[in-house]
Amino acid sequence: MDTVSAVLIAMLAMTAIVGGRYLAVSGGFAWLTGRRFPGRYAGQAQQIRKEIAWSLASAAIYGLPAGLLAWGWQERAWTRIYLDLDAYPLWWLPVSVLVYLVLHDTWFYWTHRWMHRPKLFRAAHAVHHASRPPTAWAAMSFHPLEALTGAVVIPALVLTIPIHAGALLVVLTVMTVMGVTNHMGWEICPPRLVHGRVGKRLITASHHERHHRQYGCNYGLYFRFWDRLCGTDRGLGDFGGGPVGQLAGRGAQHRDREAA
Ligand SMILES: [Zn+2]
Ligand SMILES: [Zn+2]
Repeated sequence: MDTVSAVLIAMLAMTAIVGGRYLAVSGGFAWLTGRRFPGRYAGQAQQIRKEIAWSLASAAIYGLPAGLLAWGWQERAWTRIYLDLDAYPLWWLPVSVLVYLVLHDTWFYWTHRWMHRPKLFRAAHAVHHASRPPTAWAAMSFHPLEALTGAVVIPALVLTIPIHAGALLVVLTVMTVMGVTNHMGWEICPPRLVHGRVGKRLITASHHERHHRQYGCNYGLYFRFWDRLCGTDRGLGDFGGGPVGQLAGRGAQHRDREAA
């Protein structure tokens, strides 16, 4: 097969994988949401259709460069992804995962803050905030411009920082699962974790819910480090009081914000 065809096939395959992964994980958590909180996404069918359409477009924006790199990894040794466990010390396995997550979080925090400037917000980030409130399907609901800022991160990292293929899989899994759970409209982590020492450092749905409701705060992705350092951490949001108040509160809070 000639090089161009091989690259194209790799790009299409990676787009299908990213899209399929999104549908499977978002679909799984949406199903779980329906089981645990029947009616939680009531009245949001139209919004969910848009979330899925934007997310599948994002899957292509993520998948095309990822496919090119997957081809380059196999055929041209472009990346620093390694398979031989002895290539680097064993301690590097967990540390590389942490390094990747911290760098991704740093990139996300600053580009996210930047996209909250009024002009850029309208051009690039309003699509993501059009989910009021977001659902499990909103995980990759981004305007193509925003998707582009996200799509460059992992490629840039695998070109520069060595990582075992298994550790990379862990990073991608954390990225995918947190992207979905942080938008699905309820807190899946136990209260002891969310309100304990771990929750002071890690971002869960309660933290990101506040970003979607209040906008100018809680910009982080995985860690609260940058938000706390820069004074943009407003603490945890909540999903309302009881089950009824929860539903009424959710919609109302977000509509208020829209009017403001
Ligand atoms: Zn935002
Ligand atoms: Zn969000």
